[in-house]
Amino acid sequence: MKRYDVIVVGGGPAGVSAAKAAGRTGAKTLLLEKAPTIMANKPCGQAVSQETLQTAEVKPEPSIVLHRAYALVYAPNLNYVKIDRIGFLIDKSRLLQYMAAQAAEYGAEIHVREEVQDVKIEDEVVKVKTNRGEYEASILIGADGYNSTVARSLGITEKSEPIPTVQYLMVNCNIKYPDAVRFYLGNKIAPGGYAWIFPHNEKIAEVGIGVRGAPSKEYLDAFVKRFDDELGKAQIIDYRGAPVPIGGLISEPIRDRVMLIGDAAGTVIPLTGAGIHSSIAAGLAAGRVAGEAAQEGNSSRERLSEFYILYKPWIDRIKKSLKVMRALEKMSDDELNLLAEILSDQDILDLANGLDILRVAKKLATHPIFAVKLVKAIT
Ligand SMILES: Cc1cc2nc3c(=O)[nH]c(=O)nc-3n(C[C@H](O)[C@H](O)[C@H](O)COP(=O)(O)OP(=O)(O)OC[C@H]3O[C@@H](n4cnc5c(N)ncnc54)[C@H](O)[C@@H]3O)c2cc1C
Repeated sequence: MKRYDVIVVGGGPAGVSAAKAAGRTGAKTLLLEKAPTIMANKPCGQAVSQETLQTAEVKPEPSIVLHRAYALVYAPNLNYVKIDRIGFLIDKSRLLQYMAAQAAEYGAEIHVREEVQDVKIEDEVVKVKTNRGEYEASILIGADGYNSTVARSLGITEKSEPIPTVQYLMVNCNIKYPDAVRFYLGNKIAPGGYAWIFPHNEKIAEVGIGVRGAPSKEYLDAFVKRFDDELGKAQIIDYRGAPVPIGGLISEPIRDRVMLIGDAAGTVIPLTGAGIHSSIAAGLAAGRVAGEAAQEGNSSRERLSEFYILYKPWIDRIKKSLKVMRALEKMSDDELNLLAEILSDQDILDLANGLDILRVAKKLATHPIFAVKLVKAIT
């Protein structure tokens, strides 16, 4: 049985970053991915902030960045706030492949088409069984997504609350604003979530929806119908769904010899559902801690809890964004319309991303409706 310091399960944003960071510490590292290719194996809108690529230590080359994008956030009455701060629409598969190349340069071994089937901790070692063999590791990082096999094998039942999403990749579109990522809010459009149009260019766009307590596909089809001029002649060439964990970080992602990160642990920013950047950051923190701890010969939960220190800025952001989401999900469409009139682009960015929410709270503190409905809930 081959022995490693660190085994990482899952080659998504969290896993490739963890393998890279563990390899960088000099730890003997193995990355196991069940799919035949390191690529975006799950549906994804592929919209990220510029800082995401900085965190990933990847240059914004044309082979990764499809285009620079601004954002339009639509209230239920279709008034919108424009957010000029530029982000990127990326080719996520290409980003993951660049990051896998970095992991390989740091000495991580990568196996594709190798599915982890079972994991157990025996005699102070983690035993990993796959469809192709068995391995031992001092520390295991579970970055295998929302339906984590690592978590299930180890009896970790707590999961972050999911929102079901459905997304179409549509071609032959006639997109009006090809450089804008568009978000649509409202209880009629997307109860408990939002709908989006993220164009690759004028002709091709990711069109998706996340809703709670309602059938996602029916709402997505109704959403598409609203855009006859842009999507009336379009055809769907990819149709997939997946849960997005928007309930925040689970209470115990770090245990003796085991770390759960990314969607497996609920590291998505709740209000936006964005998980690429926060997963990469989680992978880098977990990989570094696991690599160093394994080489020190200390794989205890206490030692691995250094992760919480490195990842603290993100834990705070996730908590704050969750509070804002909980407050907004109780609001009527009329209240959301009113809020969109009051908030600036910076306010929306701060609230959605769990950044300076106190500043926005102060601004709304004297408002007759939002002082109670929003400010009280988020402060
Ligand atoms: C429809 C949709 C749109 C989204 N849009 C955006 C967006 O625009 N921007 C953004 O930032 N985020 C977006 N997200 C969220 C983002 O995609 C995820 O949060 C992010 O990919 C999580 O990364 P991860 O590495 O934790 O998990 P995943 O990306 O799920 O990767 C897990 C990997 O583990 C592998 N795996 C699973 N089980 C096993 C096993 N047993 N053995 C070996 N390998 C295994 C899988 O094949 C996969 O490659 C979107 C999500 C959805 C569903």
